[in-house]
Amino acid sequence: MSMWALPTCQAPHADPDTAGHTKITKIFITHLHGDHIFGLPGLLCTLSLQRSPDASVVPIDIYGPLGLRSFLWRSLELSHSQPLLPYAVHELVPTQDQCPAGEFRDFSGLDRGEALAQAPPGTVLHLDAETDSYLLLEDEELSVRAFRLFHRVPSFGFVLEEKPRPGKLKVHILQELGVPPGPLYGELKRGRAVELSSGVRVQPQDVLSLPVPGRKVCVLGDCSGPVGPGARRLCGQADLLVHEATLEDWGDGR
Ligand SMILES: [Zn+2]
Repeated sequence: MSMWALPTCQAPHADPDTAGHTKITKIFITHLHGDHIFGLPGLLCTLSLQRSPDASVVPIDIYGPLGLRSFLWRSLELSHSQPLLPYAVHELVPTQDQCPAGEFRDFSGLDRGEALAQAPPGTVLHLDAETDSYLLLEDEELSVRAFRLFHRVPSFGFVLEEKPRPGKLKVHILQELGVPPGPLYGELKRGRAVELSSGVRVQPQDVLSLPVPGRKVCVLGDCSGPVGPGARRLCGQADLLVHEATLEDWGDGR
């Protein structure tokens, strides 16, 4: 089983007593404020110490704003604490409208020169204008996208969305049709028609209940303004939405 570290109000900590850290395979960072990233180098060192050699071949994927790779690599390099476990940093390129004018810093040139060969691998992800989001990963079971938030520095939210799962097999119908338990059940469950030795062809829709809808979990990082239409669209119909809550101006003095 793997574990993903989703954003919280505080940076992930290098707490050696926290069970389960050793299973972390993906880490999501919303923005580069210190209270969200200062724990990350220590966490990687802790994971490096705790992982068995066999498990160390599983790389940790870290997702966050542009500049994160440089921060992480420099922090580890300067402290002579390069972890033994492999990791990759996938950086999201923000747009200038994600923070107040004058606060935006262009980190696109950091460690892209001679130091590149030593820095951890990773990818640079640009905004997909069509979906107003960044596709971080996608497989048969789920997709993960990031979306832009406005904050004092560019911030991001994340949407994890499961894909619909096949419905349950109706065993009594399978038995009536004479489908023997075993590999044919698996084929039907995967949505493929099968042919029996009798020549009867069985379609998956005949023996499966309705697909199970996927769940959607949205985690928003710090934001200092209205959530934009792209994020609202992506987060629509969420099963779980995690959002920071701070007082508006009207709460001052109460
Ligand atoms: Zn912040």
